[in-house]
Amino acid sequence: MSDPNPDHDHTAVVHDAAQIVTVEADGSLGIYEDAAIAVVDGEVTRVGATGPVTREYPPENAEYAIDARGKAVVPGFVDPHTHALFAGDRSDEFEAKLRGKTYQEILAEGGGILRTVRATREASDEELLSHLLSHLDTMLAHGTTTVEVKSGYGLDTATELRMLDVIARANDRHPVDVVPTFMGAHAVPEGRDADDYVDEVVDEQIPAVAEQGIARFCDVFCEEGVFSVPQSRRVLVTGEEHGLTPKVHAEELAHIGGTQLAAQLGATSADHLLYATQEDIDAVTDAGVVPVLLPGTAFGLGAEYADARAFLDAGAPVAVATDFNPNCYSQSMEFAASLSCVEMGMTPAEALVAGTKNAAQALDMDDGTGTLQPGTPGDIAVLDAPSYVHVPYNFGVNVVETVLKGGEVVHHE
Ligand SMILES: [Zn+2]
Repeated sequence: MSDPNPDHDHTAVVHDAAQIVTVEADGSLGIYEDAAIAVVDGEVTRVGATGPVTREYPPENAEYAIDARGKAVVPGFVDPHTHALFAGDRSDEFEAKLRGKTYQEILAEGGGILRTVRATREASDEELLSHLLSHLDTMLAHGTTTVEVKSGYGLDTATELRMLDVIARANDRHPVDVVPTFMGAHAVPEGRDADDYVDEVVDEQIPAVAEQGIARFCDVFCEEGVFSVPQSRRVLVTGEEHGLTPKVHAEELAHIGGTQLAAQLGATSADHLLYATQEDIDAVTDAGVVPVLLPGTAFGLGAEYADARAFLDAGAPVAVATDFNPNCYSQSMEFAASLSCVEMGMTPAEALVAGTKNAAQALDMDDGTGTLQPGTPGDIAVLDAPSYVHVPYNFGVNVVETVLKGGEVVHHE
C-alpha cells in the first residue's frame, strides 16, 4: 500500500502487541491479537493486525514507535472522581482507625476533613500546585490519562477559587487532562450552620466560581448530617443556572435521597451509591445518570461495597473511580479495578470499561476518550503483561509500562 501520510512528524505506532483492546459503542471490548495501533496528530487513525497497519504507518517513519511484543495495549484510564488537591498528611488517622477509633471520634478531636481544610487554607498556591503535580505523576505512571479533581477543602470563596486556579494550572502544566469540579458544599465549615453555609455557597461562591470560568461541574456531599436533599438541590440548581453541570455524592453513609435528586436534575453522575435501592438504580438508569462506584473508599474504611451487579443488570453504564483523597489514599485506577473485580464481582472486561469509556461519560466527554476507536484521542497505556486481565489480576502491582497522551509518549518505566 502506498503511504498516504508522508509527513510523519506527529505519528505514533505501537506494533506487534500481543493484544490491543478497544471499547466498542455498545460497551463491549474489541480485542485484536498481534496488533498495531496508529495515532496521527493526537487521534487514533487505525487499529488492526500489525502487518497492514505498519505498512500504512511504517514504524521507522513515526515519531514514536513502540515494539509491544508480549504486551497488551489498553485505553488510558479515566479517573472520574478524586479530591486530589489538598495539603497536609493524615497517615496518623489511618493508624488511629486501625486501633479502633471511629471517623466521628477523629472528627470530634479536630481531625478528618476539617484538618485538611485548615492545612489547605494555610498552604501557598505553589505548595498546592506541587502536591497536585506529584499526584498526577503517580496517576500517570499507573496509566491514568484523564482525571477529575474537585475543590472543596477551602470552604470559603477565596480558597475555593484558589483551588480551582491551581487545578487549571496543573492541567496546563501536566500531560494528564484535569477536569475541574467545584465542590464548595463538601462539608460544613467549623462553627457554621449548614443552612447558613449553603446561603454562602449559593449567594457568593457559585457566582464567583462562574465568573472565574474554570469549573465545569458542581458537586455536593448530599449526606445525613451534612447537606440535606433540599440544601443539595439549592446548590446544584444554582450551579446549573451559572453553567455548572451537576454531580452528586449520594447514599454513601445512609439513604437520604441523593440518587433521586441526581435523576430529577439529570446530573452527569451520582457517586458512591452504597445504599441505593432498586428504585434509585432504575431512576438513574432511566435518567442517563452515570453511576460512579468508589471501591477504594469501602476498602480504606473496611466498609461495604456498592452493588455493582445491580447497576449492571439494570443496564447502567457503571463507572469506577479512585476517590483519591486523604481518607482514601490511592491514586491507582489499577487497584480500583482489582477491587471492582474481587469485591464488587465485576468481570475484568466490565472493570476496564468502567475505568475508561464509562468514566469518560461520567465527565460528559463526547470525543470518544477511553475507547481507542478511530477518530478518538490517542490516550494509550501499554502494559508489561500479555492481556488486559492482568490489570485487576496482578493486584497491588503497577503493570503499566508506557503511557501515550494524544499519541505522545509521556511516561515510560
Ligand atoms: Zn468524593
